[in-house]
Amino acid sequence: MNREGPVFPPPPEGFRWMEKGGVCFLQSVSLAGHSWIDHAFCTRWRGASGGAFAGLNFSVREGDGEDAVRRNWGMLSEAFGIPEDRFITLRQVHGTRLVSLEDCGETVPEGDGLVTARRGFAVGIKTADCVPILIADPDARAVCAVHAGWRGTAMGIAEKAVEAMRRHFSSEPSRLTAAVGPAIGPCCYEVDEPVFRSMEGRGEREAVFRAVPGRDRWKLDLAGANEIQLAAAGLKGGRIHTARLCTSCNRNLFFSHRGEGGKTGRQLNFIAVGTDAASGG
Ligand SMILES: [Zn+2]
Repeated sequence: MNREGPVFPPPPEGFRWMEKGGVCFLQSVSLAGHSWIDHAFCTRWRGASGGAFAGLNFSVREGDGEDAVRRNWGMLSEAFGIPEDRFITLRQVHGTRLVSLEDCGETVPEGDGLVTARRGFAVGIKTADCVPILIADPDARAVCAVHAGWRGTAMGIAEKAVEAMRRHFSSEPSRLTAAVGPAIGPCCYEVDEPVFRSMEGRGEREAVFRAVPGRDRWKLDLAGANEIQLAAAGLKGGRIHTARLCTSCNRNLFFSHRGEGGKTGRQLNFIAVGTDAASGG
C-alpha cells in the first residue's frame, strides 16, 4: 500500500493484534486459546492489490485484478500454512443459508455461513462493513463462519448458524464460543426505514436502533444485534466476544463499503480446524 504504516487502535477487549508472514490480523483471545483452531479477522494492510483495492483484497467480484487477488491468497496460505485450496469461501448472497463443507461439491456454494469439522480446512467470510462471526464447538471440534449484513441479521442468521451447528455436530449452544469481528459501527451506520422495518418483531430491535433526530433515519448497531441473537440462541454471555471495531472509522486497516463510497475490496475472516494435526493427512 502506498500509505504510511497503519495506526493500530488499542485492541478491543478480548482481542489482540497479530502479524504472521506479513499478514496483520485481529484475533479473539478466547478462540486463540483453543489449540485445535486457527483463525483471523484479516486487515487490508500489505498485500498485492492497488488503487481502491489496496492491499490484501480477497475478492475479484468488485473489479480488482485476478493476479493481485491470487497473490493475496498465496500470501495468506503461506502465512498460515494452509494450502490455498483448503480455504473455502462462499458466493455470499445476503440470505440465511448455512452450508456444511462436508456436503459441498466442486462448485463454490451459495450461502452466508459455512460449518465444518474437517481437519485442515478453513471456512472464510469476505466482508467490507458486514459482520463476520466465527464460532467454535470444542466438543465436536467443529467451526462456523457467518456473514451477517442487515438482511441476514433481520432474518436471524446468527441464530440459524447455531441451529446448523446443532444439526450437523450436535453442538450444545452453551458450550460454543463466538467472536464477532470488525464491522461498520453504529457511529457510521445510518439506515433508512426499510432497514428499520426489516427487524420488526425481532427481540433485539429496541436495543440496536437509535433514531436520528428530525429525520426518518436510524443508527444501527449491527454487531450488537448479532451478539444479542447469539445469546438468544443459547450462547453464554462470557463466551460471546464482540470486537466493536468500526470498519468505516478504521479505513486504513479495513475495507469499508460505506466508508469508501462503494468501490473497495473485501477482507477475509476465517476459522480453521486442526491445521497442525491435519498436515499429515
Ligand atoms: Zn464508525
